[in-house]
Amino acid sequence: MRSWSVRNARWLKRVYAGFEAVLVWFSPLLRRIGYERLDRPFAAIEKLTKGVLLDSQNCGQCIVGFTGLSCPMNCPKKLRNGPCGGVRPDGNCEVTPDMPCVWVLAWEGNKRFRENGYPIQTVQPAVDNRLIGKSAWLREVRLREGVKESVAHEV
Ligand code: SF4
Repeated sequence: MRSWSVRNARWLKRVYAGFEAVLVWFSPLLRRIGYERLDRPFAAIEKLTKGVLLDSQNCGQCIVGFTGLSCPMNCPKKLRNGPCGGVRPDGNCEVTPDMPCVWVLAWEGNKRFRENGYPIQTVQPAVDNRLIGKSAWLREVRLREGVKESVAHEV
């Protein structure tokens, strides 16, 4: 399924962006209910949907919009800023030889976005272990609301 999502990255990213915009639109209601209260059910839905579509590993700080819909947490080395030096000639992973390197897929997915520039070139921060298992959607909504990162990860 992971490869299918990368092949269909363009329209899937649009759907994803639309869904995110709806969530942002509903942010006053979400805030009123309480992000802390909503985090667990949202994270569960995310785990199911993104798990099926993207093989998401639920890091809670999703960057697939930059990585061609290829979840970098599937990299055995958890690299979030490009591949290691061990990608095999056939494009597969040096650690898991029967798996395509997530960064080879990320590059393919990025080309399919057909956007100006390459989102994949954006430098990503290291994984924040405090966010693992939490809802990346709600975090994004809070960040869009202007809530500082230091507060957004406390939901
Ligand atoms: S080959 Fe790709 S997927 Fe495998 S460890 Fe290196 S960067 Fe990660």
